Amino acid sequence: MSEVIVALDRSSRREALEIVQALGEDAGFYKVGFELYTRTGPDVVSELRSLGKRVFLDLKLHDIPHTVARAVRAAADLEVELLTVHVAGGPEMMKAAQTAAGEDLSLVGVTLLTSLSPNDVESAWGCSIDSIRKEVVRLATLARDNGLAGVVTSPHEASAVRRRLGPRPLIVTPGIRLPRGKVHDQARTATPHAAVRSGATHLVVGRAVTAATDPAEALAQLRRNLEGKGQASP
Ligand code: C5P
Repeated sequence: MSEVIVALDRSSRREALEIVQALGEDAGFYKVGFELYTRTGPDVVSELRSLGKRVFLDLKLHDIPHTVARAVRAAADLEVELLTVHVAGGPEMMKAAQTAAGEDLSLVGVTLLTSLSPNDVESAWGCSIDSIRKEVVRLATLARDNGLAGVVTSPHEASAVRRRLGPRPLIVTPGIRLPRGKVHDQARTATPHAAVRSGATHLVVGRAVTAATDPAEALAQLRRNLEGKGQASP
């Protein structure tokens, strides 16, 4: 069963909670990212938890193993359920993070940001790569081999990652859009149905729901698409 996570990309607690209120019982899992976390601090996570909501904290941690492990522990203490770390932090960082996470927090690895072109990757890495897809699969394998629960990928790389890693790992995909929905600035989008068919277990949905005139109706449409009703590509 795939999970739908609504991204609370807002700059204040009030605006974030307006979305939570508008969606009510229809949404139980929320993503808190850099902007909201930096503006409100951990209180927004505690508040979501007190409302019975599950939390994906998207802080994309990347630092020395000791520092990342301590931040992971802090997230576990906040009862966060999913947390991102950069696979590029290396095997020791991922192992330390995983040890700190304990039983209830799942760590997912950021492979390559979708904003990076092959040229960007080559200049940052200092070596040539065959393709973005192969590099994503390589990094996803590294994440799996160092104990992470899964990875974040665009829906377009999800099927290659699923084929390589098998059925167990979590695959979190952003860039989810309704058929014929507005794409915004996303380069690689997919409908919920297509993303799940590609192997995604967790779908991160932002503006397709939060910028809709009726967010609850937009979420209901996404869920209908997820169930296979209205499957066209965006
Ligand atoms: O485009 P949308 O509003 O649906 O974005 C939802 C979330 O997915 C945002 O919080 C964004 O940070 C995240 N994300 C993304 N593209 C990536 C990785 C993450 O849009 N490649």
